[in-house]
Amino acid sequence: MRNSQNNSGFSTRAIHHGYDPLSHGGALVPPIYQTATYAFPSVEYGAACFAGEEGGHFYSRISNPTLALLEQRMASLEGGDAGLALASGMGAITSTLWTLLRPGDELLVGRTVYGCTFAYMHHGLGEFGIKIRHIDLNDPKALKAAITPRTRMIYFETPANPNMQLVDITAVVEAARGHDVHVVVDNTYCTPYLQRPLELGADLVVHSATKYLSGHGDITAGLVVGRKALIDRIRLEGLKDMTGAVLSPHDASLLMRGIKTLALRMDRHCDNAQQVAELLAGQPQVELIHYPGLPSFAQYDLAQRQMSKPGGMIAFELKGGIEAGRRFMNALQLFARAVSLGDAESLAQHPASMTHSSYTPKERAHHGISEGLVRLSVGLEDVEDLSADIEQALGACS
Ligand SMILES: *Cc1c(COP(=O)(O)O)cnc(C)c1O
Repeated sequence: MRNSQNNSGFSTRAIHHGYDPLSHGGALVPPIYQTATYAFPSVEYGAACFAGEEGGHFYSRISNPTLALLEQRMASLEGGDAGLALASGMGAITSTLWTLLRPGDELLVGRTVYGCTFAYMHHGLGEFGIKIRHIDLNDPKALKAAITPRTRMIYFETPANPNMQLVDITAVVEAARGHDVHVVVDNTYCTPYLQRPLELGADLVVHSATKYLSGHGDITAGLVVGRKALIDRIRLEGLKDMTGAVLSPHDASLLMRGIKTLALRMDRHCDNAQQVAELLAGQPQVELIHYPGLPSFAQYDLAQRQMSKPGGMIAFELKGGIEAGRRFMNALQLFARAVSLGDAESLAQHPASMTHSSYTPKERAHHGISEGLVRLSVGLEDVEDLSADIEQALGACS
């Protein structure tokens, strides 16, 4: 799988891009620059750094060589020209939106987004004079009608956390064309291995790198990728002066370690999830299942077009609603009852009481998150063991 802008394959770049061991004393793994500040050869050089005339590092809230390598590598994998690493997905999202939005602006958002993104928009941005409107981004007429002269951004997840609804990235980019609007896609569920929104015309991609990119559940991290001019603004306004959500150099190194095996891990996540989804789809206790790899998935054609594989996340509902969901969750033995996703360990959670509890019940209903929905992050264990756990837990709720 090759990006248009670079000749090496995806995994080759995930392992090597931007680093030559022979320029670092032969160290095969890039060094961790554990430093907050940098010595200048002269006061004039320091002044030029502050003025943005020299590319050098001057303080690690703004830039650090370890983070710079991670940022370059992610930019290459997403097909963007620059990247910015931050302390968490929320750090990436808040630094980006605080930079690009002003009071009086309008923000169009897909119907369903991650719980803390929803809370930030409604309790953060909304209280600072930015108007938030959720619309069905797959309805071209509604989308066209919703874009006004004050609209400055269209923001969405695809697949959305937690209900797996997809948004047609190309169609949104088309609708935004000719308007002064940035299209921002949260690509956490797919990672650039499965989907590259920038190549479809989006302006920025944001990530919770805590999830699949790190892949081991041992750090929190975030990333933004896009055009250099936009990334520079987010770095120098949002990150430097507004959120200060800086990633530590040590965590940047762990994240680069995770990214080296991204393709391998995603292939296994997808294979395991496909088998678990097929198992669930055939069970009498299951009312509804949302997995982009099943032909019964409402947006199967779009999934085939937009994602190279269907991913490792499954959402489903049991007959018997929330009570059956609770019994199922409590009966699981190998799947951990835990939020987050994209780890080696398989995880199960109940969005209405956990990740999406920041929505009110009425908001959940309006945004397509039913009370009985169970979300699975299918891990890297042997699929026979995962299937056996699902089957015994389903037995406990019928
Ligand atoms: C987890 C998540 C976030 C927030 O990321 P953190 O690293 O937890 O701050 C944002 N978007 C999506 C889709 C997520 O799953």
